[in-house]
Amino acid sequence: MRKQNVAVTDMSTQKTAIRFPCASCAGPMLFDTESQSLKCQYCGAEQSIENVMEQPQEHSFDNTGENIAALHDWGTKQHAIHCESCGGETLIPVIQTATLCVFCGSPKVLQQDDIRSFRPETLIPFQISREEALTSFTAWKRKRWFLPNKFKKQNVGSQLNSIYIPYWTYDTDTYSLYSAEVGIYHYRTVTRTRVVNGKTQTYTATERYTVWHSTRGDYDRLFDDILIPASGHYNSGLLKKLGDFKLGELLPYKPEYLSGFISERYSVTREQGWEKAQDYAGEHLENEIKRKIGGDEIRNLNIRTTYSDITYKHLLLPVWNASYTYKSKPYYYMVNGQTGTVSGHVPRSALKITLFTLMCLSIAGAIVLFIMNQQ
Ligand SMILES: [Zn+2]
Ligand SMILES: [Zn+2]
Repeated sequence: MRKQNVAVTDMSTQKTAIRFPCASCAGPMLFDTESQSLKCQYCGAEQSIENVMEQPQEHSFDNTGENIAALHDWGTKQHAIHCESCGGETLIPVIQTATLCVFCGSPKVLQQDDIRSFRPETLIPFQISREEALTSFTAWKRKRWFLPNKFKKQNVGSQLNSIYIPYWTYDTDTYSLYSAEVGIYHYRTVTRTRVVNGKTQTYTATERYTVWHSTRGDYDRLFDDILIPASGHYNSGLLKKLGDFKLGELLPYKPEYLSGFISERYSVTREQGWEKAQDYAGEHLENEIKRKIGGDEIRNLNIRTTYSDITYKHLLLPVWNASYTYKSKPYYYMVNGQTGTVSGHVPRSALKITLFTLMCLSIAGAIVLFIMNQQ
């Protein structure tokens, strides 16, 4: 059963600043995961979001000839929310106010009006509703081992927040010059001697040796859409376990999709993201060039790469996120807002682990006794 997705519980609406008012009742319209359109929170009226599937614009890295102010225009007024406890930064539509940090639940949040943040070019709208995210998490939780009984019953759904996580993607052309020494294995038969029982014997053996020669060349390679997380709050391990997002379903950015949703403000800058993209490209280039060189061994490999035609895009991917405390320790879980895949941490019961270990040991002991009695 799908239900409409209502904005974060800790937010209240301010009628004065409604960005998408309902045509029938002037109430606030928020993005609805089920109909993938705007839905009035008062009368339930729906309004589809017109989105022609055009090629999203990619920007040159130095923004030559571009209107920088336009690149910062999200098409909807937003507040930047800074958490004093964890440093988390989010962007929320002006009709909402944040009273609690979506990352850590702290009430120490500050609101800033003046934000300069690159607008996303594309996004994947939320497709998983709050109820579905909770169902996925409950099913996932049931499969975890050694959960404390108390935690099994604990409802950790109330802290669930929908949040768009920022990413960068980069395209680049590369041209590399390389030099290396490549070794080829050869085999020869050699005669050797050994002493057996005080007598010297001769015998033949096969011996491997390596012939080295130097090589050099060039290598062309185009990289398309190197995806780099720009979140400052989620460790990449947890994000990776969310599984792949189907990037084929990316839609051009429209402010309507953000109505009722929070987005994390990127903390990896475009330049830092580009550094990471180069590391990624560099690793691939090294492997591919090694494959091109061939041989059995390679040494003194030297690669010089020039990057050109660098373009980037900023994009947002949907995630349901919750933090909760169990016995005053914080835990996190996330649900992929497109596919429903769950990743997270859960508390473990030390007692259950001990009992399980003791049980295993006693079974092992019983087997040993049984085998000994048979002999
Ligand atoms: Zn209405
Ligand atoms: Zn926080």
